[in-house]
Amino acid sequence: ESFDAMGLQENLLRGIYAYGFEKPSAIQQRGIVPFCKGLDVIQQAQSGTGKTATFCSGVLQQLDYALLQCQALVLAPTRELAQQIEKVMRALGDYQGVKVHACVGGTSVREDQRILQAGVHVVVGTPGRVFDMLRRQSLRPDCIKMFVLDEADEMLSRGFKDQIYDIFQLLPPKIQVGVFSATMPPEALEITRKFMSKPVRILV
Ligand code: AMP
Repeated sequence: ESFDAMGLQENLLRGIYAYGFEKPSAIQQRGIVPFCKGLDVIQQAQSGTGKTATFCSGVLQQLDYALLQCQALVLAPTRELAQQIEKVMRALGDYQGVKVHACVGGTSVREDQRILQAGVHVVVGTPGRVFDMLRRQSLRPDCIKMFVLDEADEMLSRGFKDQIYDIFQLLPPKIQVGVFSATMPPEALEITRKFMSKPVRILV
């Protein structure tokens, strides 16, 4: 199997190859196509398996680049991980002209507001700052159609459950959800039951 056979946009493929990926990893082979079809996807996989490029490709394939509004929201448990995802998303989507911003604690709220105001396609962030941006209406949820929870188990064990639920409440009702988690504790299963419809399950 190859990235070429996945029906991805030419410019996304260029981004993937330019980044240095030659062949999809196991999780990418199984996860990218269902995500690109707009399906809800649960992927139980450790980090190091290539999950970041899986959801980044799925998001980048489905964005409307002519619409400079946030269309995808990715949540991660730590600032470092959110910023790492931001970098991968930006690199893979370079030829598509994606605009990505990481909203994380410990950075200037004003700067976040300025960048969101100028317009982005994708926001990656930690639950606290993302909720803050939504509450201040600096991040408009109206056009968000994809919601990804990366390291869901880790976010839950760090006490982000209420904030994840609060964020979900503010998003449009019919939204594609991707959940990535190394383990599936009861609280993670609860999230998949409450937020997802007929999810595809992929275990790597
Ligand atoms: P992740 O599980 O997303 O944290 O990825 C783990 C590591 O594998 C990262 O350093 C990625 O750059 C690398 N990686 C992901 N997908 C591929 C691929 N298809 N080919 C080569 N390296 C990859």
